[in-house]
This record gives sequence, C-alpha cells and structure tokens, in this order.
Amino acid sequence: MAYIQFLGAAGTVTGSKHLINTNSEPTGKSGFQVLIDCGIFQGPKEWRERNWQQLPIPAHDIEAVVLTHAHLDHCGWIPRLVKEGFHGPIYATPATIDLCGILLPDSGHLQEEDAYYYNKHKKSKHDPALPLYTLEEAQECLQYFRPVPVEQTTQLSPELSFRFVRAAHILGSAMAEITLRTNGQSRRLLFTGDIGRVRNHNIAPGKVVRSGPPEGESADLMVMESTYGNRQHPTEDPRPELAELIRDTAQRGGSVIVPAFAVERTQKFLFMLKQLMESGEIPRIPVFCDSPMAIQAVEIFMKHSEEYTEETRRLLGQYGSPLEWAGFTFASTPDESKRINECKYPCIIVSASGMVTGGRIQHHLAQRLPDPRNTVIFIGFQAQGTRGFSIKSGAEEIKIYGEIIPIRAQITALEQFSDHADTPELLQWLRTFTNKPKTTYLVHGDPAASAQLRETMTKELGWNVQVAQWMQKVELK
Ligand SMILES: [Zn+2]
Repeated sequence: MAYIQFLGAAGTVTGSKHLINTNSEPTGKSGFQVLIDCGIFQGPKEWRERNWQQLPIPAHDIEAVVLTHAHLDHCGWIPRLVKEGFHGPIYATPATIDLCGILLPDSGHLQEEDAYYYNKHKKSKHDPALPLYTLEEAQECLQYFRPVPVEQTTQLSPELSFRFVRAAHILGSAMAEITLRTNGQSRRLLFTGDIGRVRNHNIAPGKVVRSGPPEGESADLMVMESTYGNRQHPTEDPRPELAELIRDTAQRGGSVIVPAFAVERTQKFLFMLKQLMESGEIPRIPVFCDSPMAIQAVEIFMKHSEEYTEETRRLLGQYGSPLEWAGFTFASTPDESKRINECKYPCIIVSASGMVTGGRIQHHLAQRLPDPRNTVIFIGFQAQGTRGFSIKSGAEEIKIYGEIIPIRAQITALEQFSDHADTPELLQWLRTFTNKPKTTYLVHGDPAASAQLRETMTKELGWNVQVAQWMQKVELK
C-alpha cells in the first residue's frame, strides 16, 4: 500500500523531508518513490547528527524530488542525497532553481570551512572532521534541477503527478499538490511547504513576494507547516520602531547588526532602510550587505519580477536596483567582509545566516556583541537550539567559533518581517478550503507550536489533525 513517511521537520522546524512511496506492485517490491523537499537539519547537535544518517531507503531508489522552496531547511540536504547516489530529476520553480544555484554551493563552502576550522583547532571528536558535502559537490547536484512553472501539471509516474501553486512565502516558493491514482482511486495530497502571509499590506508591510496562499484549496490529506502554530505576529507597522532603534544606536555611536537570510529577507529589509533614509526618518549611515552571494542575490531578486507585490514594483520603479544606491555596500569577498570590522563609526550590517548557525554574521557578532552601544535586531524566526535563539532569549554570553563572547549589546526583535503566516492567518486560509482534508499532519514546528495548532484547528475548524512524528509512516488507503 502507498504511504508517506516523515523523514524530517517532524518535532522540529528543520530538515523537511517527506517520502511518498506508491509501493503498489503486487510483488511487494517498492513502488515509485519521491521526496517532497530535502532539507538539512539545523540547530541542536541531536538534530544535526541526523544529517549524517542514511535514509531508511537507499538514495538511488528515490526517483524524483519535488522542492517547495530554496530555504536550506527544505533544500540543503540535496547535495548529500546526490552524493549518496540519487540521480533523478529535482523539480522546482525557476526562481527556486536560481536561488539554489547560489545557496547550495554557499552551503557546501560553509561545510568545508567548518570542517577546516574544527580540524585546525582540533575541536571535533571526529578525526578528521569532514564536510557533509563540498562546494564542488553542491555545484554538481545543480544539473539535476528541472524548472516547472507554477500551475503546470507534471507526471512523475503512471500513478503520481504534481502541480505547484504559489505559497507566497519567499521568492519562488510553492506548495505541492500531488495527485495519487492507485486501484482506480484518485487522491489529492497537499504539501504546503512554508506558508506565506495574508493579503494585507498593513499586517505584512514591506512584503516582497505576492501575498496570500491560494484560496479555495482542497485536499484529501494535507502535510502542513506549523512554525507559528502558537503565536500571533504584531499587527502594527514595524517602521517607526525600526527607525527609532537605528536613530538611538547611531546617536550613542553604535552600529546595528541584523542577522538575515541573504536572499529576499535582506532585499526586503534594504528597501525599508532606503525608504526610511529618503524620508529622513533615519540618518544616512553606511549600510553593509555582507554575504558571499550578496550581489547575485540582488540580481536574482531583480530578475524575478513576476513574484513582486505592487508595492515592491513601485519601490523598484522609484529607487532602482539596490546595487546602485549610494551608501550601500555589497561585500562579496572575505576581504571585503573583514574590512567591515574596521568601520568604527555607526553603520548597519546585514549578514547571514539569519539564525547565526554559520556564515559571516558570526564574525560581526563576535566583534560587536561585547559593546553596549551596538544593537542587534532579529527580523527572522529563531529555531530552538540555534545561537540566534539563545541571543534573542537573553543569554549573557555565546560561543562563536569556540570563543566565549559576552553579550552587552542591545538585543531586539521585530516579528513583523516574518514570511510565515501566524495562527490567525493560517486559520483564515484554512477556512477558504472547499474540501477539508480527512487528515492533516502537522510538520515544521517546535513541539509546543505543533501541539497548539492541532488543538486550535480541531476546536475551531473541527478538522482531524495529527502532529507528525519523525520516521512515522502513514498509509494512503
Ligand atoms: Zn522557508
């Protein structure tokens, strides 16, 4: 009998990986096997160690991957899957493929750097420490990507087909509607990937990609994210608070450090800074956008205008490409990145990774966290167990590259920048369903968030909702 197995993002927000096996052959041999997403586990060691484990089925037995979007917790394990023998097609939207083209090699590069560091300082119990995959291996896996425009049906096997619909989460993001036909029966399986904010500019100001997940969905079974299953985003405009934080910090001679995902979140934030500078609400202090893919990220963002909201279109018409803006510097090379450390006057540094799990943000924070004049502003979700989570939660010190760094800088967070629908927004979307799923499995949430969303959906919508367990198999009857 066909089944779904949750190989990741069950009990946690990272490592999204869900297997569908049609398993329909009377001989008992495995059927067609497809992975929906292939993300990397991030955060606590207990989870990261799962990146090194083999899948319950051999990688070469998987025929295809359907990828919802380019966040590493959804795509970051693809190079490892290919390294372990997968050679099938990886279906994704054109914008997702462009983003993976820079994000996966960058991830490989970071893995290599970390392994090199641990070997040099003998900080690992593994001797020698190895990268999960290298930059070169990440580049090699790109040949397997196949672009699929949204709303085009693609046949995966005689029993399985799929279609992407927009998820409005980040550039290129989509939900996967899977149709499974076995024993003369047709079932629709909806994998939401990550779900974006509602259609409301006042609630989600500065949103870059088109708003709102598709209304009027229907599914027989749904696998749904639950990141904000127990929370509500603030509904006020974040700009006045952001402007005040920047003004105060600059006045006391400090700098503002913003950990942010290099693609889209960073561009969205840059447009907001530009607006605030042009309107005179913040001083024209230098802005550094520090990422090895800083320039490429802007170029990809500029290329996919089909994804923009009206507001973004208007801002682009008014201000043009961020690469041309006076006072905004894009640091691509390590030397350019290090030079930012020499900047002793107030500035704004936007750098990745957004949850401080790796990347250049580490050296910026190591240098600037001990100084109480500085301010760190979190504009993204911080998963439990990440450095970002600890800093945001008020830790007094943090270990970065093996050194203990005291935290004396001001620490703040603006939740309005989230690209995930919160609980009221999720319910608003679910109420538009024309056919409610017989069962909904919640994934991609910390246990408390998933449990709370299950309760809310059961109570308010009367749906049958389960929290998915890691490695759990669900038969598709
Ligand atoms: Zn995401």
